[in-house]
Amino acid sequence: MKKPYLETMPDEKGYFGEYGGSFLPPPLEKPFQKIRKAYDELSRSSDFLDELRYIRKHFQGRPTPISFAKNLSRYCAGANIYLKREDLNHMGAHKLNHTMAEALLAKKLGIKKLIAETGAGQHGVALATAAAYFGLECEIHMGEVDIQKERPNVIRMQILGAKVVPATHGLKTLKEAVDSAFEAYMSDPDQQLFCIGSVVGPHPYPKMIRDFQSIVGFEAKQQFKQIAKVDLPDMVTACIGGGSNAMGIFSGFIDDDVKLYGVEPMGKGENIGEHSASLSYGTAGVMHGFNSIMLKDKDGEPAPVHSIGSGIDYPSVGPEHAYLHKIGRTKIGLCSDDEAIDAFYKLSKLEGIIPALESAHAVAFAMRYAKQNKGENILINLSGRGDKDIDFVVTNYPPQILS
Ligand SMILES: *Cc1c(COP(=O)(O)O)cnc(C)c1O
Repeated sequence: MKKPYLETMPDEKGYFGEYGGSFLPPPLEKPFQKIRKAYDELSRSSDFLDELRYIRKHFQGRPTPISFAKNLSRYCAGANIYLKREDLNHMGAHKLNHTMAEALLAKKLGIKKLIAETGAGQHGVALATAAAYFGLECEIHMGEVDIQKERPNVIRMQILGAKVVPATHGLKTLKEAVDSAFEAYMSDPDQQLFCIGSVVGPHPYPKMIRDFQSIVGFEAKQQFKQIAKVDLPDMVTACIGGGSNAMGIFSGFIDDDVKLYGVEPMGKGENIGEHSASLSYGTAGVMHGFNSIMLKDKDGEPAPVHSIGSGIDYPSVGPEHAYLHKIGRTKIGLCSDDEAIDAFYKLSKLEGIIPALESAHAVAFAMRYAKQNKGENILINLSGRGDKDIDFVVTNYPPQILS
């Protein structure tokens, strides 16, 4: 019998085919070795898994349900659309699935301080939540420009007890926040855990974060049978930033005859700086400690990117997505800013569910797909709720009905 995919990938060096691996400055080799070893042991320890199960059930509110989007299905006049409701997680997105587990790992390692960078602040808030739960210190690095732009998330982090450190050099956005957080981490790698926010970074993070998110796919597979009265969906889709929510739901269906579509943000157009469709327009390269497909500028540095979904404007993609796409197991869907806005309003009005703008990308793609694939059963991973986006949307794309 063939071994399940999840048990065979990545290899022991963290490679998914040619992608992944670990490209670290020498002083970080040792601390990362320690993390790899600890995770390897803990992932097989029933103590660790029991504690995680407890947290998911009694703090996060798992399992999250699957909802049948009957009005949206009727509107698309084609396929049946189902939603895996990660928006119903505590704090409103899938991110707690991995930040709670990372904080638990820190606790098991006897580490008292969590450190990370954040772009729009979503990862920072999710990590600050986990730190508060476990009584750990939390330091979040954020570009000064982003701090001005994303004030509500800055305040949330501070209320949750995290220290927000501004990155004041260069363009003062995500790239500088990564540098700043890495520098702070390097100063004392034994007493701090660097908590990466997606299936990216050096080994073991892409595997570890996928494993933590795989609960989404495992639940969905069981639930789908019950609600849809068929064994499997025909197609499963999710938006891709770094790719953690997509890997989460794909994990449940990767060995099955199910089409898997990751949706990339086309933003405002095809030129560099207008989108963040890394797999569609990128080339091979090493960035942030791993080998993958990435968008580069003419000097080979990470290119400027854009999406209205502030959690999916990342110039690379998790190495596992690069691999699965290369071997043809997954396909890419595309969605522009305007299509995401349309899906944001449609899902809200038709189903009473306000999606995060990131998640709206997957909804928009599924709507297009549904019209072209009559009779199919589609499962969307609704990665988060849209409360955080309401101000932005009504200011920049006012709905006619509210005027
Ligand atoms: C952060 C975020 C994403 C993007 O992250 P992935 O690692 O690609 O899943 C998607 N949706 C929501 C709601 C988010 O907060």
